[in-house]
Amino acid sequence: MIFKSLGAAVAAVVLTAAAITTIGTVPVVAQDTTRALTNIKGDVWRFQNNFHFSVVIVTADGVVVTDPINTEAATWLEAEIASRFGKPVTYLVYSHSHGDHASGGAVFADTATVITQANAPAAIDGVAPDIRFSQAMSFTSGDHSFELTALGPGHGTDMLAMVIIRPENVAFVVDVVSPGRLPYQDFPGANIAGLIEQTKIIEALDFEILSPGHSRMGDKADATQAREYVEWLRAAVTTELKAGKSADEVVASLDTTAYKDWMAYDMWRDLNVQGMARWLKESGEVQ
Ligand SMILES: [Zn+2]
Repeated sequence: MIFKSLGAAVAAVVLTAAAITTIGTVPVVAQDTTRALTNIKGDVWRFQNNFHFSVVIVTADGVVVTDPINTEAATWLEAEIASRFGKPVTYLVYSHSHGDHASGGAVFADTATVITQANAPAAIDGVAPDIRFSQAMSFTSGDHSFELTALGPGHGTDMLAMVIIRPENVAFVVDVVSPGRLPYQDFPGANIAGLIEQTKIIEALDFEILSPGHSRMGDKADATQAREYVEWLRAAVTTELKAGKSADEVVASLDTTAYKDWMAYDMWRDLNVQGMARWLKESGEVQ
C-alpha cells in the first residue's frame, strides 16, 4: 500500500475560488473553500471542508467515512478517496443529523452501508439509513473495529461518538466538544444539562486522540475542560441571576477571563453567557 507510507505528505489543500467579483478596481474572492484530507494516525484521516471536519478510515475491506458535510464536499472526497486509495466507500456513519454535517450522503449511499442513531429522521438529506441503533453498536471492516455510542439528548437527540479502536484509538466527536474553543454561539437548540451528560459519556470512552467536527485535534483532557467550562458557566450565571441581575447585566459583569485564550472567545463569549441565561430560565433551573 504505497498510499499508506506517503501519509501526510500527500495531504492536499485545495483552494477553490467559488466566486470572484470586483469591487472598484480590486478583485475580491468572495468565497473560498478549503478542503483537505490529512493523516491523523495509521489508516485514519481527517477530512476538512472549511470549518467542518470528518474522519475517513481506509481498511483492507473498503473505506469507512463519517459526516459527508455537503454534496460538493462529499463529491470532492469521493474522488480523492478513489484516486489515493482505489477502494470503494463501504460504510457511511452519521455523527448526527444536523444539516451542516450530514448533508450530501447520497454521494456514498450507492456503495455504502449507512448507519445512524435511532432518533435520526427517516431520511437524512434524502438518504434512508440501513442501520439504526439505540444505545451502542460495533462493526468491523478489514483489520479495524468501530464502536458507536449513543450520547443521548443534549446537542440534538441523535448524536453518537465513534471510536476507531486499535491500533489508532481515535474518537470522532462532533459539536459536543470542540477542543480549545468556546461552545458555538448561544448554545442554539441545546439542552445544556444534556450537553454536560453527553460530554461525560465521551470522557468515559476508551480513546487517546479526539478528532472533532470543529476546531483543532485534541484528547480526553479537552473533553474534560469543555465540560468544566459549561459546568462553571452554568453555576456562575445561576448565582448572578439569583442575585437579581438581568441576563444583559450578567453579560456585562461576569468575569470570564480565565477562558480568554480559547478560540472564538471574542466572538462568542457574550453569546455563551446569554445562551446560558436563556436556558437556565427556559429549563426552570432559575425561576
Ligand atoms: Zn450539530
